[in-house]
Amino acid sequence: MNFSWALIALLSCCLLLIALPSCAGERSLHTPEILGENSHSGRDQFEIERQEMVEYQIRDRGIQDQRVLAAMSKVPRHEFVESPWKDFAYSDRPLPIGHQQTISQPYIVAYMSETAEISPDDKVLEIGTGCGYQAAILGEIAKEVYSIEIIPELAARARQTLSQLGYENIEVKTGDGYQGWVEHAPYDAIIVTAAPEKIPQALIDQLATNGKMVIPVGGGWHQDIIVLTKTEDRIIKEKTIPVRFVPMRRKLLK
Ligand code: SAH
Repeated sequence: MNFSWALIALLSCCLLLIALPSCAGERSLHTPEILGENSHSGRDQFEIERQEMVEYQIRDRGIQDQRVLAAMSKVPRHEFVESPWKDFAYSDRPLPIGHQQTISQPYIVAYMSETAEISPDDKVLEIGTGCGYQAAILGEIAKEVYSIEIIPELAARARQTLSQLGYENIEVKTGDGYQGWVEHAPYDAIIVTAAPEKIPQALIDQLATNGKMVIPVGGGWHQDIIVLTKTEDRIIKEKTIPVRFVPMRRKLLK
């Protein structure tokens, strides 16, 4: 009897050690890796972390748009990153999504969504789908979302994640964002999540009158967010915050 208890204890210890995430540096034991992603406690833990993210990273830094806050509270960010990173899905930083690309820091997603001043009836264009997280936030606050990704594998994965989560108002295509997506233009808002050296003219052309474009602009890894407003007779550009996005690529990769 004693021997079987000792055996059970030993086996549990081994299982626990195997289940420990290899990159546990930033935080202590976390449920999903150990209990399994679909376990009840795992889901609750993500929910708690998501609400903390909204309070401390987003609301405390000045984001006020209730619809953006509600979207950030709802969209399961951990579903957009792969297993080793799920534990860090709600941390205050970008994370790798493969192909040397990243999922944007939560605050930046909220900032760009609020700054674009999106209404429930709006049609929005996003350049740089990546994993599809920003697209999902836009899908919560706009009527239709069109998103372009230059890396076919990322576009395919984003499409799959978004459809699994039930988003029917978001379309993702593989293509070059410099050209925009002329078939669905004009757009009430355009959000660009890769940085060009200057604002692509095609995107300005595809923005509706009174529409807003939020775009990181600059060479290398240091850029500024430019908020571009198109009125009846002019284009107004305002530089807001410094950011660090991946550069916008010129050519379709194989
Ligand atoms: N919107 C994402 C962030 C994506 S990172 C999020 O929700 O977190 C930027 C993405 O832009 C990368 O996936 C990159 O492949 C893509 N990209 C870079 N150049 C592009 C281009 N010319 N057209 C479309 N997508 C591009």
